[in-house]
Amino acid sequence: MKISDIYRNKKTVFSCEVFPPKPGAKKDGILETIKDLKKISPDFVSVTYGAGGETKDGTIEMTIQIKNTYGIEPLMHLTCLDTKKEEIDTILSRISKGGIENILSLRGDMLADRDFKSVGSDFSYAYDLVAHIKSHTNEFCLGVAGYPEGHPEAYSLEKDIKHLKQKSQAGGSFVISQMFFNNELFYMYLDKIREMGIKVPVSAGIMPVFKAKLLSKMIKLSHATLPADLVSIVEKYRDNDTEMEKAGIEFAVEQIEDLIKHGVEGIHLFTMNRASLAKKISSYSGLR
Ligand code: FAD
Repeated sequence: MKISDIYRNKKTVFSCEVFPPKPGAKKDGILETIKDLKKISPDFVSVTYGAGGETKDGTIEMTIQIKNTYGIEPLMHLTCLDTKKEEIDTILSRISKGGIENILSLRGDMLADRDFKSVGSDFSYAYDLVAHIKSHTNEFCLGVAGYPEGHPEAYSLEKDIKHLKQKSQAGGSFVISQMFFNNELFYMYLDKIREMGIKVPVSAGIMPVFKAKLLSKMIKLSHATLPADLVSIVEKYRDNDTEMEKAGIEFAVEQIEDLIKHGVEGIHLFTMNRASLAKKISSYSGLR
């Protein structure tokens, strides 16, 4: 099923994100995660694409397995930086044969040991990937990434939203947001993108902070602002993982309850492959 149809038919679309095993690592753990996620019936499950395409085969195989073995609608992440058109076309034909209908079209980030000038990429931005796929086929429903606090490289939030509009006009039919911890910033972002004429549905990206030590990595990746109440929770439970997880779940649940009250079109949970977190959060917040 195309994810755009799910948004059309559901009030609050609930999705979960997982990552595939590293190349050569066992798949058992992630398959258990998928089985457990199935019990809470997410509307779709997205599978990340390792930086620089390092998990390409794992991402493709897992996405196909989620659809054909577990009967859950999958969304495959696909990045285009450092990639040739022929490689993208080969991937599209592989996933088409596997029955995949949905792709999150992303630029990706350059690995630390490469530089933009030396690689022979056919794509500069996610927009190029969306346009390339759409110029070939209408078989896939394409999602794109949005950044409530602006993408870290963007000159301004307004410029970044203009680029989001470009992606949506080229064929991006829904948006999944970067993680944020302050709902007010998300509401302001939604107002701005609607003012600028972007009409496609937007899912709010929610990251449960279940370990204090992970937070700095999350912030480094997302550049999300930390509200004072979350900072004090993290300081309080820095050395107590059990209490940190409880408090992190509570924080995420409150965020989601408020988002639902405000009528958001979707909640996208970064599960970090922890189905137990997704189960608790979806049940406590009334999503499931
Ligand atoms: P783009 O939309 O291309 O934007 C990148 C930057 O370029 C922005 O600053 C934008 O404003 C600017 N820009 C865009 N178009 C133009 C233009 N025409 N002219 C000038 N500037 C322009 N990464 C992975 O490697 N694997 C994943 O699985 C993955 N999943 C993600 C899931 C979500 C929900 C999100 C929010 C991000 C994910 N990322 C993933 C990270 C993403 O790849 C990075 O944030 C990357 O830096 C930007 O990707 P993008 O698709 O948003 O790029």
